[in-house]
Amino acid sequence: MGVQGAGKGTQSKRLTEQLGIPHLATGDLLRDHVDRGTELGRQAQEYMDKGELVPDEIVIDMTMERLSRPDAAEGYILDGFPRSGVQLAALEYRRPAEHAVLLELDDETAVQRLTEREVCPRCGIIYGKNREPREEGVCDECGGPLVKRSDDSDRQAVKKRIQRYHEEIDVMVRYYEWRSVLHRISAEGEVEEIFQDILDALGASR
Ligand code: AMP
Repeated sequence: MGVQGAGKGTQSKRLTEQLGIPHLATGDLLRDHVDRGTELGRQAQEYMDKGELVPDEIVIDMTMERLSRPDAAEGYILDGFPRSGVQLAALEYRRPAEHAVLLELDDETAVQRLTEREVCPRCGIIYGKNREPREEGVCDECGGPLVKRSDDSDRQAVKKRIQRYHEEIDVMVRYYEWRSVLHRISAEGEVEEIFQDILDALGASR
């Protein structure tokens, strides 16, 4: 968990490489549906464009289906789920989380990071102040063009997403704290330091 721009995507990608389990980001799953023009994507897009949560019934079914695939049998990193009390209940009922990591970042830094970031749609690498591409607008890994996510371009929509985040995340934080599985990690520092803090918190050494 963490406000948009706190580094969930970046850190999840590194954790995936370190732990050998897939990174399942509901935002990515939804964007994939939108790009493929599926019925689910069509339903989700209007909410995503406005910076609003996609309805629970759509997101829960999509996420549970993904969690049931063979590559997630040994574990997975969930990013962007749960985001509501109903999603939390669904997850606890089916696959309770072993750990919950909360990346903490102040809102002003989050807005700045979001409006500045660019992503490689092919590799999933996120570029910004912490990691700038060698050549502007070009992915270091695959040489493909970098894009701005449509929902990152509009400052108003970004602020709304951040405000919504605070409203929605409170119940998750309190619940995971109560279950004694919550790890609070500062997301202000360097990517590498934050990654090490996460590994330490999970008890996963390199
Ligand atoms: P993200 O990539 O995590 O910033 O998510 C992008 C957008 O996808 C959000 O603004 C929501 O519209 C939607 N979304 C992602 N995850 C969820 C979720 N768990 N529940 C509802 N909507 C979601």
